[in-house]
Amino acid sequence: MFRAIVVTRPSDAPATATLESGVTDSALGEGDVEIDVEFSSINYKDGMALTGRPGVIKAESLIAGIDLVGVVSSVPEPVEGSASAGSATVSVGDRVIVTGFGLGENHPGGLSERARVKSEWLVPLPDGLSLRRAAAIGTAGFTAMLAVLAIEKSLTPADGGEVLVTGASGGVGSIAIALLAGLGYSVTASTGRAAEHDYLRSLGATTVIDRAELGGPGKPLQSQRWAGAVDSVGSHTLANVLAQANYGATVATCGLAQGPDLPATVMPFILRGVSLVGINSVYCPLPLRTEAWRRLALDLDLDLLDSLTTSVGLDGAIDVAHAIIDGTVRGRTVVEVR
Ligand code: NDP
Repeated sequence: MFRAIVVTRPSDAPATATLESGVTDSALGEGDVEIDVEFSSINYKDGMALTGRPGVIKAESLIAGIDLVGVVSSVPEPVEGSASAGSATVSVGDRVIVTGFGLGENHPGGLSERARVKSEWLVPLPDGLSLRRAAAIGTAGFTAMLAVLAIEKSLTPADGGEVLVTGASGGVGSIAIALLAGLGYSVTASTGRAAEHDYLRSLGATTVIDRAELGGPGKPLQSQRWAGAVDSVGSHTLANVLAQANYGATVATCGLAQGPDLPATVMPFILRGVSLVGINSVYCPLPLRTEAWRRLALDLDLDLLDSLTTSVGLDGAIDVAHAIIDGTVRGRTVVEVR
């Protein structure tokens, strides 16, 4: 028996999350690889799942947690000691990362001392990253890296111009700022939290703006301000970012913290050649997934990562979930599962 946070969704009552200590292997779901989980993390989606919001957990009862990092404890028979993991192999003792593929949504997740997953979901821990730091990056940081990779296709630091990061104090935003600034881009952070301006500058933002500047209805085309943008907010904010994007700019859309709507027009696309690129971390194909983690290990300043990371135990995870939905969590929260 082991400990895990289980979300239960009765048909006639709101969903609830509980830390249970008597969970058995029957709750682990299908898969060919078993993992002793060392760390998980709290992303916005975990916040939704652990506070009983609909749309994340798609089962009546499921172990929560969309991220896990740990050590392989069992691989399939009859292939002794090894199993397929994409094009590589996996062995007992390997240190691995799992995000997406429905983990913590329709497959038992990472807020658990044990997990069972499909070997093709595994990403080997890249050289230079500890298990704890990989969890600190987690889905949020991986998503930020995917957004940076998208922006790099049309913009180099030498091109100049400002890259905007919205939802800046959050997990995706904080890591996007650290990555972009580390690569040499000039970064503007948009935040609703006046108290976090110094924090955002410490991550590398050169300019900080109030999110109220972008948060309401705006004209379809506005003065050009942004050479690129990473948006985790959506709604009016994303519409205004598009309306203010420079000719040829790439805007990476990652999230919906303000809302899932997009009250925009086609004008930025047809008159300024702006590109809106969708970022999806969940079903990101393995080659891009592996490349993003390689780049994270290479490009992310690990001292900065530590500075934006807070840790809690499994027994503190549900409180952090409420805080992330309330918008009071800064940066990333690692969950020490053991
Ligand atoms: P966080 O809660 O850590 O960050 C979200 C940030 O958005 C907040 O810190 C806040 O920043 C800002 N924000 C919150 N509410 C509002 C609002 N009403 N209006 C404007 N800004 C707001 O979440 P994550 O960083 O983990 O995730 C960010 C978003 O990205 C979420 O919507 C999440 O679902 C999505 N996501 C998508 C992924 C994908 O694969 N596409 C993967 C991971 C996340 P501040 O206080 O600085 O203003």
